[in-house]
Amino acid sequence: MTRGEAPAAGAAPVRPIEGAFEERFGAAPDGVWAAPGRVNLIGEHTDYNDGFALPMALPQTTRAAARRRTDTLLRLHSARSEGVVTEVRLDALAPGAVPGWARYPAGVVWALAEAGHPVGGADLHIDSTVPTGAGLSSSAALECAVAAAYDDLYGLGLSRPELARAAQRAEHVFAGVPCGIMDQMASVCATEGAALHLDSRTLEHRQVPLGLAAHGLELLVVDTRVSHDLADGAYAALRAGCERAARLLGLPALRDLAPDALAAALTVLPADLAPLVRHVVTENARVEAAVARLDAGDVPALGPLLTEGHASLRVDYGVSCAETDLAVTAALGAGALGARMTGAGFGGCVIALTPTALTRTVGEAVTNAFRTAGHHPPHLLTATPSRGATRTA
Ligand code: ADP
Ligand code: MG
Repeated sequence: MTRGEAPAAGAAPVRPIEGAFEERFGAAPDGVWAAPGRVNLIGEHTDYNDGFALPMALPQTTRAAARRRTDTLLRLHSARSEGVVTEVRLDALAPGAVPGWARYPAGVVWALAEAGHPVGGADLHIDSTVPTGAGLSSSAALECAVAAAYDDLYGLGLSRPELARAAQRAEHVFAGVPCGIMDQMASVCATEGAALHLDSRTLEHRQVPLGLAAHGLELLVVDTRVSHDLADGAYAALRAGCERAARLLGLPALRDLAPDALAAALTVLPADLAPLVRHVVTENARVEAAVARLDAGDVPALGPLLTEGHASLRVDYGVSCAETDLAVTAALGAGALGARMTGAGFGGCVIALTPTALTRTVGEAVTNAFRTAGHHPPHLLTATPSRGATRTA
């Protein structure tokens, strides 16, 4: 399936968000909160195995203009919902009760209430420059913008990991996606200029300066604009497979399998689980290697790790597809230092680490390869590491 033309990656919203809020709800908002989408540099399908990841926030954000209400009504509108306002009372919030896109923000409010926080109603208007369904985590950006808004509107004083947990719970329970915690942690905790070294078990995290520009490098994001339908069911099945493998090995999670114990573990695992385990263990090691290389100031050395990560996702984890494989091959052929699919897979985006002088060439090479193969033209953007969720007005 190919996603539609609009909105193009990174397209700016046309109207000030305060005006759009007022037009919809008849008064000015109390404030505006923004949370970014993300790309993951390395550490794919590791978060739900309690492992490590290295995402960075994009400049593209989802914004929530919000006004606190004195009653318990929640009114939700998105610039993408074409004038339709979803209304629901807080006491009617329950899994399955809210359809469509509004289940994400409604789920966040439900998760906060469930956790015992004193929340009431609000009017919310959403707009976004994060491409939807591209694997750049527009869902987490939406959840985290709403969580940040509620945190301030109701003076909850939550920590960043607590905001991320509420957002993740919304996605699990209201959207039915058993996601890990990486997307939400990136969206709330990232800082400008850095990647986030995340321990998904403890939620400990460290900002790792990237220094792309100082090394004459850029991170090109190729949005293949394909999303294959098997994504949802396959994701849950992969997660279940990893959990089964950990149980068979007598471990709390695959994160607890050390690289030097991998070979022995592979001999006792069933044939369908062994490759999953090999991916997770080697991918966690790639995250640690990437952080070590960045800490040592050797940014170009990230490249081979990205390419190895893609091979592991393609061969062992089985989540790449013709379009993402082609984008990786074409980018490498045109001079990228490394390239890999990013996000859960089955389409979505590829990242390529490119010398700045070659970024354009690499983008053209991928576009040409897509044309030759008869694929729809990809969308290209350059990712600069940006800040996590914040109040903007
Ligand atoms: P991704 O997170 O990779 O973009 P998902 O399928 O996880 O893809 O989330 C996309 C869904 O999130 C959309 O189908 C929609 O329901 C919701 N969503 C994201 N951004 C917005 C937005 N600005 N307005 C309305 N819904 C949105
Ligand atoms: Mg998502």
